[in-house]
Amino acid sequence: MTLDEATRQLADAGIDNPRAEARLLLAHVLGISRDQTLTTQPTPDQSARYADLITRRAGHEPFAYITGRKEFWSLDFEVGPGVLVPRPDTETLIEEALRVVPDRTARLRIADLGTGSGAILIAALKEFPNAHGIGFESSPEAHPWASANAARLIGTRAQIRPDDWAAAQGPFDLIFSNPPYIPSGEIESLMPEVAASEPHAALDGGADGLAAYRNLAELLPGLLAPGGHALLEIGLGQAQSMASLFSGLEMLRIAPDLSGIPRCVILRNPKEILGKPGPIG
Ligand code: GLN
Repeated sequence: MTLDEATRQLADAGIDNPRAEARLLLAHVLGISRDQTLTTQPTPDQSARYADLITRRAGHEPFAYITGRKEFWSLDFEVGPGVLVPRPDTETLIEEALRVVPDRTARLRIADLGTGSGAILIAALKEFPNAHGIGFESSPEAHPWASANAARLIGTRAQIRPDDWAAAQGPFDLIFSNPPYIPSGEIESLMPEVAASEPHAALDGGADGLAAYRNLAELLPGLLAPGGHALLEIGLGQAQSMASLFSGLEMLRIAPDLSGIPRCVILRNPKEILGKPGPIG
């Protein structure tokens, strides 16, 4: 299959950037850079494999599931069916963490509630080299991805627990979460890549999309260390209703993503230090 044929097949299927994706998938099959795709001829075997991947993409399988990789915070994550593909918007949570904790050498205790691929936790641990963290992921399909990414990219500073985040025991200095927040009734209207392939457990936030935040609003005050911060991802239009749930914590700000959409709610535990912090776990 030629690049032109592949581009046409993707365009006919309604894929947004058919030429760019056709080149990237060819580069993936040939193990070369995108620039070399115009000058490298595939062998018949490679051509057949390429045709197969193009057909999968034309069927709106997520691009990242086909290549098995997705970049997040300039790190290379392994992903596949069963785990949410990390989104560029979610990098906002890391940027904001660097603002609320300017000291990169801090010995932070970090938690990521619903860690999925481990992207947020692992990116945060890269930025804070003396920090340790735990990612909670209750989905048996998702947590092996997080474990593999953590082992490959970070090592023992990251622990992945195959548990619901209700199992978390603080105190933590930083808590991240990109919980499911799409209202149940809107899932089917998402892009086919998302609706048909990505795990609904990572997307479905109940009737109004806020179910996970209600749960987090109950748990976070008991999990955050005094002065600790929580950075939570929100969806389009959720800032006001979501923020009103967190009465026990101080709301510092709501940060926009690169498109200007309010994306990250930053909360702080204002409580004084009352006793010695317990073990991380
Ligand atoms: N940002 C994702 C999407 O729009 C949703 C992720 C989530 O529910 N946390 O597809």
